[in-house]
Amino acid sequence: MDTTTIARPSILDLSRDALVAALKEMGEPAFRARQLWKAIYSDLAVSFEEISTLPVPLRARLAERFDPFPLEPRVKLRSKDRLVDKLLFRLPDGELIETVLMKYGEFGPARARRTVCISTQAGCALGCTFCATGQQGFRRHLSEGEIVGQVMHVARLVRADRARESAKIEDARPDVTNVVFMGMGEPLANYSHTMAAVAKLNDPEGLNIGARHMTISTVGLVPGILKLADEPFQVNLAVSLHAPDDATRSETMPVNRRYPIADLMDAVKRYIVKTNRRVTFEYVLLHGQNDYPQQAEALAKLLRGVLCHVNLIPVNRTEASYERPDNGRIGTFRDILNQAGIAATVRFEKGTDIDAGCGQLRARIISAPQGAQVSPGKQVKNASGE
Ligand code: SF4
Repeated sequence: MDTTTIARPSILDLSRDALVAALKEMGEPAFRARQLWKAIYSDLAVSFEEISTLPVPLRARLAERFDPFPLEPRVKLRSKDRLVDKLLFRLPDGELIETVLMKYGEFGPARARRTVCISTQAGCALGCTFCATGQQGFRRHLSEGEIVGQVMHVARLVRADRARESAKIEDARPDVTNVVFMGMGEPLANYSHTMAAVAKLNDPEGLNIGARHMTISTVGLVPGILKLADEPFQVNLAVSLHAPDDATRSETMPVNRRYPIADLMDAVKRYIVKTNRRVTFEYVLLHGQNDYPQQAEALAKLLRGVLCHVNLIPVNRTEASYERPDNGRIGTFRDILNQAGIAATVRFEKGTDIDAGCGQLRARIISAPQGAQVSPGKQVKNASGE
């Protein structure tokens, strides 16, 4: 392993002000920082050497001082329907994180969404029983640059695809149209780096992703929800609820013992009053656990009068082996909510053939023999390369 690479701080961890200060310290004028910012976050340069707007000696000095990109792509899998790409990155200290690109084309090629689901922690401390990441434990928080870098890498892939395939389609939107903070980890537990990443992704001279096109998903950390309500960014909030009562919720989500449903709902209502924004409740349907009609009725009662939408997600099988309810049971649950005036839709998992569920690919790589290659179709082969 190249230890000089590890020793250099990542340039992606610098805010715009910090970048100006760093270049000033190197004896460079402020406009060089602007050029560098544009090269990194708009042109998506992967190395300093390729930034032709900067003098060659400055490029070399930057390369000595900073790591230009802290994520090393190790695995890329594409689903059979070609709508989902799953990526596994290795970080400078060897940690592995996952990122998913989901393409939605239902609005026509010029309005198709390209949504990236990103991780905010390596592993997770919260231990939800239906989640592969939750079974692997917490490793560490991701830095601002490690969070933003996931989107940048995907944006580069999309840009290359668009250059090849969509040259004739008029589409002035960003390479990545939406970002969801729903990958490995709890974003509100890594609050400052998550919000710094939001600011950077939103920068009009960079990736330019609208705050309204970003969603922060939380397991229900009450102090984080209240803090988020005071932020200037109009990001969306998604709350993982997964049960209408404390007893059921605590069985699958240990965090419920710390922040029970009454406290969580109180925080969500205060968030809505402050932001006037609709909240999404995520509800993973687990057969025989939280998918009974009586539970749908209890959920409808809990959410009555709350400005919200419910996403029902039939479980993606993990090591914990929960059963997915059949379609009839899923439909009944949804209908009970809709009939009670609660907007609810079913979101079917995408990319199940490539372990798109949070933490599944990482778990499979860690348990694979060293040097093994993972390919779609769930085999692990002894082979080299990506
Ligand atoms: S669902 Fe989210 S919060 Fe729960 S263990 Fe998995 S990553 Fe952590």
